[in-house]
Parts: sequence; structure tokens; C-alpha cells
Amino acid sequence: MWNDRVVTWVVPPPEQPFLPILGQPGRFAVRRIYCVGRNYAEHAREMGHDPFAEPPFFFQKPATALVHSGSTLPYPQATADLHHEAELVVALSSGGANLTEDQALACVYGYACGNDLTRRDLQAAAKAARRPWDMAKGFDHSAVIGALSPHRGASWPDGQISATIDGTLRQSARLSDMIWPVASLLAHLSALVTLAPGDLVMTGTPAGVGPIARGETCTVRIDGLDPASVTIQ
Ligand code: MN
Repeated sequence: MWNDRVVTWVVPPPEQPFLPILGQPGRFAVRRIYCVGRNYAEHAREMGHDPFAEPPFFFQKPATALVHSGSTLPYPQATADLHHEAELVVALSSGGANLTEDQALACVYGYACGNDLTRRDLQAAAKAARRPWDMAKGFDHSAVIGALSPHRGASWPDGQISATIDGTLRQSARLSDMIWPVASLLAHLSALVTLAPGDLVMTGTPAGVGPIARGETCTVRIDGLDPASVTIQ
């Protein structure tokens, strides 16, 4: 007998990607991962662009690309130039469209350290051909994100952000060096899509991006947050 209250999946539903939360057993269910291009002036210049010429632009990684801190990953397929990008990650507990900056900040659940792993050779080829960045940015295991720190108070983190490889400093900047601060980024993004609970936004990387070789460990640190570390096999 057909019954519309009983669902039979012909393919099992996928596992729900999540982030652990510092200091509590709860989990943050991840819905989408948005990323921002060129949000630090020195990094925009190192990639050959005028940092102040255009509004922020966005791309996505699939939520299934999420990898927790402490993971060991195989060197990604289809690249010979895997790069690290240290980034502040913003996690949303509410959303909406066409938000003001104040409304956008009220959607923030918390913050984490992230590494926007990038197949730089594929990105360069995509840029040269004026093609999308998806295969350079949205590949398997490409979003390394640490435990979430719930947001406290009215301001966002304003400390130092860094990336080290096997202890050697590769990227270092202040979060206040962002061209588009968190509230402005979220407001811009909400003019393009309706933001929702579970969305993550990786807020761009400072100068100093570079390769991670096999056998190396890359650690992203931000003052006051749990580090995000990954080892490439
Ligand atoms: Mn990035």
C-alpha cells in the first residue's frame, strides 16, 4: 500500500557535514560554504589585481569538501601546485536577503580558522581561459576548518591571522587588513543569495599564499580561535 508518510530512499541520504564547537558537545550543521576572492590588498596585488577596483566577489565549495582540523589528506588529484590560504571563517545561525550590515552581524553564530586549499595551477588555467574556478577551489577535502568559537559581544575577531608550514611562517596579517570586513561581506553576499542557518563564509586570505608539499603540515591560527591544521600525504 502506497503511503506518502513513509519515504524510501533509493540512495541513502548523505552524512550531514558539521563543525565541532569549542567547549560544548553540540555540533554545527553546515549548509553551504561561500568563499570571498581578494579581500586583502597585498594578496590581490600578489595575484596581479588592483585591490580597490571592484566590489567583493564570491565562489563556493561544496559542503562535502569540509575537513576537520587534525586531518591527514592525500595530495589532491589533478594538480601539481596545491596552495594554502589562511582565512577567517564566519558561521551563520540565521540569514536573510538584502541584509544591512547590522542585520548581517546579528546572523553570526561564531568564527573559526580555515584553510581554503587551492589547486593553483588549475586556477591559473581557468583564469587564462576565463572559465569558472570550481575545479580549482571546490575539490574533495578543499575546506579545512577548525572548531567553531561561539560569537560573544558585538565585534568580530580583530587579531592576527597566520599560516605556518611545519612551523615556518608563510602568511601573517591582521584581520583588520580586510578590504571588506565581515559585516560588509555578509551584506554584499545577502544581496546575491538568501543566507541561511548553517552557511559558512570563508573571508579571503592575506598575502603569502604558496605550496604545501607532500609530508608537510599547514596550520592556520587566528588570535582567540582554535587552530586549523592539515597534513598532506
Ligand atoms: Mn581564499
